[in-house]
Amino acid sequence: MLAMATLCISSTAFGQANHVNPWVNLNPIIPPAAGIGKGIWLKGDLHVHSRHSKESSNNPISKIVNFCKTVGMDYVCITDHDNHVNGDVAHNTWADPEFKSESTLLLYGAEWTTTRGHGNVFSAVPYDHQRLFDVRDQRDVAVGAVKKQLGIHLSANHPSGKDHFGYSYDMLESIEVWNSVLWSKNAEAIMIWDDMLSSGRKLTGRGGSDAHHGVPDKPELATPNSKQAQANYVGTPTTWVFATARTKQAVVDALTNGQVSISANPYAPRVEFYADLDQDGKTDMMMGDNIKSTGRPVKFRVQLSGNTVADSAYTVKVVKNGSSFGTFKTTGKTPVYEFTDTPDSTGRTYYRVVVEGPGTDYPQVPQAKALNGNMVGLSNPIYFDFDPNF
Ligand SMILES: [Zn+2]
Ligand SMILES: [Zn+2]
Repeated sequence: MLAMATLCISSTAFGQANHVNPWVNLNPIIPPAAGIGKGIWLKGDLHVHSRHSKESSNNPISKIVNFCKTVGMDYVCITDHDNHVNGDVAHNTWADPEFKSESTLLLYGAEWTTTRGHGNVFSAVPYDHQRLFDVRDQRDVAVGAVKKQLGIHLSANHPSGKDHFGYSYDMLESIEVWNSVLWSKNAEAIMIWDDMLSSGRKLTGRGGSDAHHGVPDKPELATPNSKQAQANYVGTPTTWVFATARTKQAVVDALTNGQVSISANPYAPRVEFYADLDQDGKTDMMMGDNIKSTGRPVKFRVQLSGNTVADSAYTVKVVKNGSSFGTFKTTGKTPVYEFTDTPDSTGRTYYRVVVEGPGTDYPQVPQAKALNGNMVGLSNPIYFDFDPNF
C-alpha cells in the first residue's frame, strides 16, 4: 500500500504531459544538399579469407588476386581471422609476397575474430591491428577509444546467429547486411540494420562473400569444402561504391558515407537510388546523402544499371523507416521506377530499396545464380533529418 502511494505521488511529480526529452536534438544542423559530385562506381568484395585463415583451403592470396583481375574487381579486402595469428596481421596477410596487384586496389584489413563476435576492419593504409586485437575482451568504452585512435572503418560481420556482433553499434561505420551467396539467410541482419537506422544511426549496409575456399589446382588437392568454390566465392555478393577517385582512400570514404549498392554478383545489375528535391528533373541526392526535409514532396528514382535482362519484370520494394512503403513492378532495357513522397516534417526519415528479378549468370562461380534465387540487389538509404553529430 505504501509502495503504491509513493508511485502515485512520483508520477504526478514528474509531470509527464510537458516532458521534453533532453537527449533528442529536434533541429540538428545539417549542411544543405551539395548535389551529386563526380565519381566512379567501383566494385569489390569486403570479406574474403586467404590461406592465412587456418580453416581456408586452396586459397592463397595470388589465387584471390588473379580471380579479381579475371572478373574485373576494382577493389578487394582480404580479411583473415586475426586470432589465427594472435593479432599480427601485419606480418602475415599484409607481409605475404603475393599481397600485391596492378589491377585491383587491395585494402588493408582483417576479421576481428573475438568471443563477443566478428567485425571487419577496412583501411586504405596499414594500421596497428595488434592494438584492436589486444583490447577485444575489454569493455566497449575501452574498445571504442582504441578504435577511434586507430582511425579505422569498423564493420559488423554476419550480425545475427553464431558469432553475432556483441559490441556496441555506436563504434561502427557499417554492417554486413548481405553475407555470402545465401541471401535468404540475411533476414535478421536486415532487421538489425533497420532498427539501427530507425534509432538515428547512419550506418552503411554492405556485402561480403566470406569465401574461404578456392578451386584446387589439382584434383588431389580437393578438400570436403572445395565444392563451396563453385557456389560462394569472391563477388557473391558484390559491393559497389561510388568513389570520388580510383584510390583505396576513396573506396573507404564512400563506404563510410554510404554511397554503396550491393549486387548478387559482379555481372548482375546495380541498383541506383536518387532523389530530386525540387522536382526539376535533376537528381540532387543519392544513397548515403542526408539533408533537412523541407516539408515538400520529393521525387525518388530507382534505376538498374548494367546487365539487365531484356523484357523482364523487376520488383522494386521500397522500405521507409523500417516498414514497407510499397512494392512496384518495372520493365524495359534500363528499368526505372519513380515515386513521390513527403518525408516527415518532424523527426527522421529514411528510404531504401530492394530489387528482385531474374538472376544473372556468374560463369566463374557456376552455382551462385541458383543459390541466389531472385535477389538482384539492394541500395543504401537516402536520409532526411539525421543528426550528423549523433
Ligand atoms: Zn566471421
Ligand atoms: Zn569471415
